[in-house]
Amino acid sequence: MAAKKLSPDKLRHFEELIRGELRESLDYINNINKEQSLGARESSGDLSSYAYHQADQGSDTNLMEQTVMMLESEREKIRQLNEALRRIADETYGVCEICGEFIQETRLEIIPYATCCVACQEKSEDKKRRQKR
Ligand SMILES: [Zn+2]
Repeated sequence: MAAKKLSPDKLRHFEELIRGELRESLDYINNINKEQSLGARESSGDLSSYAYHQADQGSDTNLMEQTVMMLESEREKIRQLNEALRRIADETYGVCEICGEFIQETRLEIIPYATCCVACQEKSEDKKRRQKR
């Protein structure tokens, strides 16, 4: 199945999708940072130690850990979204990093920062699963 090269219109469409997701992720992180700095002022005043050490005490252990994990994954997503914008500028957007085929548009609609096609994604997940055993 040979996917077609993305037209300039399509590229603009995906660029908007990516910028939209980027804004959402940044808003999300800003909100959490605001909440955390409020909490941090009440306790030690140090943001990073609040995030990690507060987890040893009290009942919001899981909540704090979850927040930290969500922040991490959100930051990773932002990194990938920025990479995708760079690929749009480079005109390499939509090309699978592994096999060099064009990534299916339906996949990009769902994951606009995808770097490889479904087939390669499945192969690499297969490999990971095998390595874990
Ligand atoms: Zn591929």
